[in-house]
Amino acid sequence: MSRLVILGSANADHVMSFEYLPAPGQTLMSKDYRLEHGGKGANQAVACARLRQPGNRVDFICHLGADGIAEQMSQSWCDDGIHPEGITKVDGQSTGTAMIFVGADGENSIGVSLGANASLTTEALAQHQMLLVDADWLLVQLETPTTTVAQALKSAKKHGANTLLNPAPATVLGTEIYKWVDIITPNETEAETITGIEVTDEKTAKLAAQMLHQLGPDTVIITLGSRGAYLSCQEFEGIVAGVDVKPVDTVAAGDTFNGALMVALSENLPMRDAVEFANHAAAIAVTRRGAQRSIPYRREL
Ligand code: ADP
Repeated sequence: MSRLVILGSANADHVMSFEYLPAPGQTLMSKDYRLEHGGKGANQAVACARLRQPGNRVDFICHLGADGIAEQMSQSWCDDGIHPEGITKVDGQSTGTAMIFVGADGENSIGVSLGANASLTTEALAQHQMLLVDADWLLVQLETPTTTVAQALKSAKKHGANTLLNPAPATVLGTEIYKWVDIITPNETEAETITGIEVTDEKTAKLAAQMLHQLGPDTVIITLGSRGAYLSCQEFEGIVAGVDVKPVDTVAAGDTFNGALMVALSENLPMRDAVEFANHAAAIAVTRRGAQRSIPYRREL
């Protein structure tokens, strides 16, 4: 049995659609409203749970508020098979919330309240030390306090886990954190934020990957949207082509990619095959609307 741990954010995404975005001081009636379960950490945990082979355990270390949406989310994650041990509902806090206004042309305007995500501190993490000690694989992103993310990587690595950092959203970090990372998975924008190199093609992806290796990670995977991903590791260097689909909504594509990648690696697939598996899973997610509800199950691949 493999033990896969994800640490990160969970958000309730309130999405409203308009003909055009409301201007300051203006009130508009929305065409429709949806409540989505989102947050990069939660999306990645759901991807792992839906794509894993039965028997492998998925834990999600996160902070939710003490509210109704926290109950709905945690119930839905448990239905997908996420182990409840790492999920904490914090008294007096509300669950992370994003208010997303979408205009007819796809333009959007987003406000986020971190809510309980901000209280996932290093002290709070200490209560989940055993999950990190026992982990075979750890996947983290950057929507929760970065000191906690760094501590989780360090702790898991020290106890023998393989570690993945999806450095999203794009954030400038101190160089220390990268020492604890085996595999780093930025998209093009995030790769540019870290390296200063604008990734536009295979040549610039290779340059950025070289810089990322120098920071620490042995494996660099730069996701390239519909083109797939640039992989740089000991056995392979080059683009692993994406799957040709008609995209409907790319929300959670990167998160599905990351969760699927960790699942495939935990099953000992070679790195290139694991990236192919991740491209397939993410391609299914882009053919469907929504965040967690767009993430595929293993039987669909
Ligand atoms: P992010 O969603 O984090 O910005 P990308 O846009 O690079 O990251 O997408 C992540 C992965 O999702 C890609 O590597 C690819 O596998 C898949 N993907 C994204 N967009 C498409 C698309 N239009 N067609 C097929 N696959 C896609």
